[in-house]
This record gives sequence, structure tokens and C-alpha cells, in this order.
Amino acid sequence: MTPTLIGHTTAELTALLTEMGLPGYRGKQLARGFYTRFARDFDAFSDLPKALREKLATETQLAPCSERSVQSAPDGTEKYLLNLTDSEVIEAVYLPYEDRTSVCVSSQVGCPMACSFCATGTEGLARNLTAGEIVDQLLFMQAKHPEQRISHLVLMGMGEPLINLPNVLKALHLLHDEVGLSYRNMTVSTVGVVPGMEKLAAEDLPITLAVSLHAPNNTLRSELVPLNEKYPIGRLMEACRHYTDTTRRRITFEYVLMAGINDTEKEAHELGELLRRQPLCAVNTIPYNSTDVEARYQRPTPEAARLFREIVASYGVTITQRYEKGHRIAAACGQLKRSALKPGSAMRPLPLFSQIPVAEPTEPTLEPTA
Ligand code: SAH
Repeated sequence: MTPTLIGHTTAELTALLTEMGLPGYRGKQLARGFYTRFARDFDAFSDLPKALREKLATETQLAPCSERSVQSAPDGTEKYLLNLTDSEVIEAVYLPYEDRTSVCVSSQVGCPMACSFCATGTEGLARNLTAGEIVDQLLFMQAKHPEQRISHLVLMGMGEPLINLPNVLKALHLLHDEVGLSYRNMTVSTVGVVPGMEKLAAEDLPITLAVSLHAPNNTLRSELVPLNEKYPIGRLMEACRHYTDTTRRRITFEYVLMAGINDTEKEAHELGELLRRQPLCAVNTIPYNSTDVEARYQRPTPEAARLFREIVASYGVTITQRYEKGHRIAAACGQLKRSALKPGSAMRPLPLFSQIPVAEPTEPTLEPTA
């Protein structure tokens, strides 16, 4: 298989070049080219001899992601559909804010977690992304926006990062060591994969962990998040406490508000009670974004959302509403979904989670431009 260069450390690139019979010290120039100058083809490496560039162009591939289509919203949000080298497709979102520029990237092609309200969950998992494919989503969007330095990254696109932990960790290290992003500006979001949370705690990185909670009791949470059957709330809260005790970093609990489902005063009191004693935590509420997969879920009224937050806050729990972007182009949380499926694409959960039902793939929703 043709090696893809993005996704390797400078040291690995040096070794790769040596193996190819090329001068190893050129590895540093290569890494600088795509990790800090955001070059996406060999012609951009004018500091490398032409013969070397030609050999690299025939025997390797530079970047794993290429543009398939893009949709832009008036607020500057851009939702990209990216082709991977095996013709799988993923989504990544560019999010310019006033004070920072963030990207939301995918960790898997699809997702095996099958949360009842999430668009990605309807498609099952095709495969994990490699570290290079995770990093390249940011590099691709940075190359599109040379004027604006991307400072923040959230792993809140398609997939469950903590069941692809080795590749996710390698990606975070590359982004820190090679691209120069601060760990403090990286957020990993999980639906509550307890063993993954324990492994991540052991890494002791100053990143932010977000936990998708969505319900304060097991009956409701199991309905929304099938993984709750395996790691119920008690077990999850223990893992959260262990995480904050080990890393001294705050956990953000994500709570998607769905009218009449999990946004009533009853759930607000239960949530306040649940998190009252949880150290170093904050809640982020996200009004449900409609998807074409579930008609029974609706956005709450702003009044209901406000009351919910007031009740939770009365328990001394920090709670804020996530500022939403990209609504009009369905680039908001949980609306990312593989829209162009390769015929015969593998649709299966990882063996570990094979007990979780995986829905049939649905019809494409986006028109590819290319
Ligand atoms: N699997 C990880 C990473 C995906 S993050 C996780 O679940 O945390 C995507 C976030 O968007 C999660 O908090 C998810 O619960 C939320 N989400 C999913 N569908 C949504 C929808 N329709 N509206 C609003 N948020 C949604």
C-alpha cells in the first residue's frame, strides 16, 4: 500500500525516507511543509530537490483527505464532506468565532453507538480513522483558510473517539508536537466508554473531556444512549471522578435538550442532585437539532431551556447553553452523517460493542459537488 505522509512524526518520516533510500534529514523539511505551512502537494516543496519530489510523488501520498463538497452558512460555518483514499467519506466542520477559530472533526467513519437521537448513529460503523486522517481534517481546513489560524479542535464529529483511542492519542500528539496546537484547546467527547476514560486519565494530558450525558437517570439514559446498559450512570460518574482526580481537569457534561423527553423540571432536579457533589464539572446544554432520523424528538422552547438551567444552577452546578453555529447547513452537533456511501461499504460495529444494534444505512442527504 502507498504510504501516506501526513500522520507520521518527524522521526517516523526520517525513518521512512531512509528506508526508501532517500536522505533522512529531508523528513524535517517534509513535516514542516505540511504541518506548519499546510502544503498539500509536492509542488509546494520548493525547498526539496525536484528528483526527490518526483520520487515521493510516485511512491507515497501526501494527504489522506480531499474535498468532495462544502456547504457554507452565513455565520461563516463550513461543513465539508471529505473523501478518504479508500473512498469512504467523512464530515468535518470549520467554526470561526469572534475570539477563536475551531474545527470539529470526526474520529470514525460512522459510529457504532447508535444513540437514538443522533444522525451518525443511524449508519453504523464502517471503520476507525487513522491518526493521519484525524489530523488531516484540521490541516485541510487550515489550508482553506490561510488568513485564520485554527486554534481549537473538538472531536465531536462522527464517531466515538474513545473506541479509537490509540489513533486519537497519536493525532492529539501530532497536533501538539508538530502543528503546535495547545492541548488545552483540544476537546475529546465521549458517550461514556468507561475503559477508554480510564486509559485517557492515565495519559494525564491537559485536554478537556466532554461526556455526553443527556439524562440524569438510567431508565431514560438507556433509552437515548444504548451504551448506558453497559456502563450505567453510577459507573460513569465514578470514572468521571477518577478522571478529574487524576488530571485535575474539569469535565464538561453535554446534555442535548429534547422537549418533553429530558427537559422537564423533574430531570433538572435529578441532574442537579446527580452533579451537586461531582467535583470540577460543568454542564453544556444543547437544544436538539432536528435530523431526518427521528420525528419524535423536538427542540425545547427557549423558556423551558432557561428554566431547566435555572433549576440545575440552583444546586450550585455550573451550566451554560452551547452557542450554536451552522444550523442552516445541518453542521450542528449530531447532524453529521455520512451522506455519500460507497456501495458495499462495511457496516459493522466493533466486536466489543457488537451487542448494540446498528441501523441500516439511509439515503444520501447532500449533493456532492465533485
Ligand atoms: N460519540 C461522541 C462524540 C460525538 S460528539 C459523543 O457522543 O460524545 C457529538 C455530540 O452531539 C454529542 O454530545 C451528541 O450527543 C450530540 N448530538 C447528537 N445528535 C444530536 C442532535 N440531533 N442535536 C444536538 N446534539 C446532538
